[in-house]
Amino acid sequence: MKIARFDDNRFGLVDGDEVIDVTSALSALPAQSYPFPRADLLIENFAALRPGFEAAAKNGARRKLADVKLLAPVANPGKVVAAPVNYKKHLDEARADAGIHHQQQVGEIQKVGLFLKATSSIIGASQSVLIRHDDRRNDHEIELAVIIGKTANCVSKEDALNYIAGYAIGLDMTVRGPEERSLRKSLDTFTVLGPYFVSADEVGNPSGLDLELTVDGEARQKANTRDLVLDVPTLISWASSFYTLHPGDILLTGTPEGVGPVLPGNTIRATIAKIGTMDVKVGHA
Ligand code: MN
Repeated sequence: MKIARFDDNRFGLVDGDEVIDVTSALSALPAQSYPFPRADLLIENFAALRPGFEAAAKNGARRKLADVKLLAPVANPGKVVAAPVNYKKHLDEARADAGIHHQQQVGEIQKVGLFLKATSSIIGASQSVLIRHDDRRNDHEIELAVIIGKTANCVSKEDALNYIAGYAIGLDMTVRGPEERSLRKSLDTFTVLGPYFVSADEVGNPSGLDLELTVDGEARQKANTRDLVLDVPTLISWASSFYTLHPGDILLTGTPEGVGPVLPGNTIRATIAKIGTMDVKVGHA
């Protein structure tokens, strides 16, 4: 099942190049009051909502996907966990290019660990990436985004795939420079999630997915998730050995080689097999 969040917080089941409005099914969600839990309510209840989504789709209004404004598919993730240099060829290019490493040693992920991005940086595919620092390199990084479905604390690699609700395409936009990653990657609009949420059963094994990114039609990144240094189960197990992962938490699994700068006016096209394609415009803050 593919679920899009669009326009003024409508929810839709994606069917080919159309989206069927199933927002009415959200009335089944449990009522909440302040203080709100550290989990995304829709993702936490996704399994229970599925029959309602299917029922609502029988009579839901249809729109062309191309005609709606796509928002980030997870509305309220508690955190965005991200894997640095998790493809060997990206580690090699980062070490070779001063524009990426800025005279800092680029360590292997096993030594560097994971980092966090601010949730305020999240946008959807139809909301532009906005550049603030014109004097610096602002790079694209395509990444498989994993959406956690169940509370995960100290889970084993063998069990880790059972904690995934689904997937999306992630763009881990980055200002190059000497500061900590969490600062340079947490600017408003610097985490793009889309085009929609794809449930885990539609993707199956997350290893072996082709990913591809172009900028204004120019090929930049092309790789496959089988080349991840630490695969998805290992990342979930490792992250959950440090902190609890909650439903709706996002795991950005790292970017392959081919990162490069974008400028206002560019359009990024990102594709991941079994998930989809999204076009993201770049503008000026
Ligand atoms: Mn990244």
